[in-house]
Amino acid sequence: MLLVAAMLVMLVWLAGLYEAAQVQGRLERDAEQAVGDVRAAFTRNVQSLQALQYSDPTPNSWAIDAATMLREHRELVRLEWRDSAMHVQSHADTPFRPPVFDRMGRDNTQSDVTQACATARRFSGPAYASSYFVPLMDGLGVEVMELCLPLQRGGKLTGFVVATYALQDVLDVLVGQQMTRNYEISFTEGDGTRLALRGSARRGSRVFTAHQLMDLPGTTLVLRMDSWRGAPDLFPNVLTALVTVMSITLVSVLAVLGKDMRRRLKAEHDLADALAFRKAMEDSLVTGLRARDLHGHITYVNPAFCQMVGFTEEELLGHSIPAPYWPPESIDEYQQRQAIRLAGNVPPREGFESVFMRKDGSRFPVLIIEAPLINAQGVQSGWMSAFLDISEQRRVEELSRTSQERLQATARLATVGEMASLLSHELNQPLAAISSYATGSINLLADGPNAAQEFGSELTQAMQRIAEQAERAGKVIKSVHDFVRRRDQVRDAVAPQVLLDAILPLIHLQARKLLVRVQIEVEPGVPCVLCDRTMVEQVLLNLARNAMQAMDQPHILERVLLMRVRRVKAGGHSQWVEFSVADIGEGIAPEVQLQLFNPFFTTKAEGMGLGLSLCRTVVEQHGGALVFEPNVPQGTVFIFTLPAGAVA
Ligand code: ADP
Repeated sequence: MLLVAAMLVMLVWLAGLYEAAQVQGRLERDAEQAVGDVRAAFTRNVQSLQALQYSDPTPNSWAIDAATMLREHRELVRLEWRDSAMHVQSHADTPFRPPVFDRMGRDNTQSDVTQACATARRFSGPAYASSYFVPLMDGLGVEVMELCLPLQRGGKLTGFVVATYALQDVLDVLVGQQMTRNYEISFTEGDGTRLALRGSARRGSRVFTAHQLMDLPGTTLVLRMDSWRGAPDLFPNVLTALVTVMSITLVSVLAVLGKDMRRRLKAEHDLADALAFRKAMEDSLVTGLRARDLHGHITYVNPAFCQMVGFTEEELLGHSIPAPYWPPESIDEYQQRQAIRLAGNVPPREGFESVFMRKDGSRFPVLIIEAPLINAQGVQSGWMSAFLDISEQRRVEELSRTSQERLQATARLATVGEMASLLSHELNQPLAAISSYATGSINLLADGPNAAQEFGSELTQAMQRIAEQAERAGKVIKSVHDFVRRRDQVRDAVAPQVLLDAILPLIHLQARKLLVRVQIEVEPGVPCVLCDRTMVEQVLLNLARNAMQAMDQPHILERVLLMRVRRVKAGGHSQWVEFSVADIGEGIAPEVQLQLFNPFFTTKAEGMGLGLSLCRTVVEQHGGALVFEPNVPQGTVFIFTLPAGAVA
């Protein structure tokens, strides 16, 4: 930029210099031409003066001719014919001025005339004397120059013609109009004094000057020409302006180029980054990548692909079909597939599976996902394929399939175990009831042979209860079986009171043993519940039994078991029936609360820890929820909900 700026300044400066030189040159030429003009005119005048003598004039006729000549030549102010002794024979003055020598007297200028004529005589030709100033009558003056022309006849000097030039008029008349318009032209002396001046040059800060010597026989005149130039412009002429404009354009182009270069550099940098990023990505991929042109030649493979098939990049690039990694036995099939692909059919987006062969001959399954390769012009130039080695996946699938089978077998075993434990839990109660009814009956019968008649009705009732409980045990077994097999249970609409009535005999049996007063509160108009009857009865039984066991403490004297049923409204139109079983026992310790519903968690010596977990499962299978909260003032309330059916 600095160089260009320096060049620009230098160009402007040089252009300025060049133009100045041009102007100076033209001025010099013009000055030369002006001098030439004047000289030629002087020569012509000499001839005209000689012509005055050709016709052997008398002084009078000469004066007439001279006056004529003076009218034609403004630059001449006076003509004299002198004899060889320098006496004036005849003379004529210019009609354009008052007689020049009137004020000064012609005699006072005699020396100049004499000097000119002496020179003329010496040269035998026209000669000039140095110019001199002649004051005029009007107070001004005029610079004049004498020309003396010797007259000879037969080689003998007969006289002289003296002509007086007014230098001012020489400039006015003999120098071309054109020049006097453009320049200030003057005759000067050696020291620069102006003798005559023509032209009105404007003064400026830069004046070009040309001096031209005009050698005349006997004297030398100096013609000076001044050309005015205004204050130097910034762009002195078209050339400079052109150079400047070009320089500015050059600078602009440089700036634009610089900007473009920076943009390109940045783009290159970005591209290199993107390439490096792409390379790193390709190298780090575990997915094999391969590109093929439309004729099936491999144009690109990534390291993962090479690793997968065991061939090097060089071995693969440019290779056409059949590819070296195709198992020989599948070549036909693959070739058909290729033909379909090359015909332009788009493969499935989710990919397809195939088998490839490694360099060592081993086969492995691959998942191939293919997509058309579209180039920057939007034209398909080939196919891009991604390969996943799925041998590991296959192995894992196989493993998981076998372990799944094993798991299912284990699950079946677990189901058997679960059923066994649930059965043993749930059958406890009916069996205990049966055993106590049987013990009671035996006790009655032990009273004597008549006992059968005496306690007939009691025995019958006991037998009935035994039968009921046995039947119940049967139902429990079926229910538990269904429950464990997760079959769709039959849902009946059952009135809550009916559910309670079914289990009350068993509850009373235990309540009597534990000295618990059982209190039942059923809200009037409570709707039926949709449920698996036996299982819900088991839930109620379990909760009631837990409650009674919780109150089985020596210090608890007033033992009340409160079972309530009421209707609750949930969001929307669904109706729910809420069952609650409250005791006034010790309550549940926080650490126990956390694991309450865990299967096999129990705090009792003979407990199995399955009751609550089973209750919760049953209630949740019905769509309800089982929760517990502290009872006021003491004890615990277990609450569960069941969906309501029709009004009971
Ligand atoms: P199990 O009755 O066989 O022990 P559960 O699952 O029915 O098994 O009960 C688990 C534990 O929960 C009981 O051992 C007991 O500690 C506690 N529990 C259950 N109900 C109550 C209750 N109403 N009051 C206090 N603790 C209770």
